Amino acid sequence: MLPPTSATASAMGKPADPSIHLAMGVPTDDSPDDDYVMRKPQYALSYNSTRNVPNWVSWQLDETWFGSVPRHKGKFLEDRDLPRDFKRTNHDDYTGSGFDRGHMVRSEERTRTADDNRSTFLMTNILPQYHDLNAGPWLRLEEHCEKLAKREGQQLFVMAGGIFPRTKRATQIIGRDVAVPSSFFKIVVILQPGQGPKDVQTSTPILAVIMPNETGIQDHKWDDYQVTVDEIEKRSGYDFLSAVPEAVQRAIEARRAD
Ligand code: MN
Ligand code: MN
Repeated sequence: MLPPTSATASAMGKPADPSIHLAMGVPTDDSPDDDYVMRKPQYALSYNSTRNVPNWVSWQLDETWFGSVPRHKGKFLEDRDLPRDFKRTNHDDYTGSGFDRGHMVRSEERTRTADDNRSTFLMTNILPQYHDLNAGPWLRLEEHCEKLAKREGQQLFVMAGGIFPRTKRATQIIGRDVAVPSSFFKIVVILQPGQGPKDVQTSTPILAVIMPNETGIQDHKWDDYQVTVDEIEKRSGYDFLSAVPEAVQRAIEARRAD
C-alpha cells in the first residue's frame, strides 16, 4: 500500500490477475503512460518505453521451474512482442557500456525447458547492472531464493526492478537511450507448503532489499541491504502486493525481516 495517492485498494485487496506471476497484484504507480504490461508464460513485467528497460518484473518461483536444460547460448534477444513503435533494445545496446546485462528472472530459475530458459534472455527481462552488484550481493540473494524455492512445497513470489534518479538529466544513458538505474530492488514473498497466494498473512515472511548499482560491493552480503517494502514503494513510486488485503498489506510492508 502506497499512501496517500495510490491507497485505492479495497479492504479485500484488488482482484487477482489471471497470470500466476501477478498473484500478488499488478504493481502500479501514478504515471500509467509508461507502463506497458506484458504477461508471458514464464514471468510478467511492465516495460518503460522512455527508459527502454522494464519498470518491474514479477514471477512465481518454486522447485518445478528448475530443470536441467543448458543455459541459452549466444546473444541476448530482442523482444518481438513489444509494440512496433517501441525501441526494441538488443544485446549490443549494452556492449562496451561497462554494465552487465542484468537478468531480473535469473537464467537458472527457468531451466525446465529450452523455451523457458530462452525467455530470460529477452531484453525485456534485463537492466544494466554493474558487475560487482550482479556477481555480488544480487547473485547471493538469487542463490538464497533458489535454496528457499527448492525446499519442498515452498513457493515464492518475486518482484524486482530498478530505482532511477529523479530527473532524466541525472540519469546515465547507454546504447540507444537505455537508462541506468541508480539502485535495484527485490521483494520476495515466501509461502509455505499448502499455502496459495490468498494465504498471505501478517506472519508471512517477506524479504525486501535495495542494493546500489555501483562498483566495489562484490564482497557485500545481500542481507546488509534489507529494507521494508514501504521503503521500496516510496523510492520506486510503485504500489506492490495490491492483491493482499489492505490490513495485512500495511503490516507486512512496514515489517523488516530479521
Ligand atoms: Mn502495497
Ligand atoms: Mn544476474
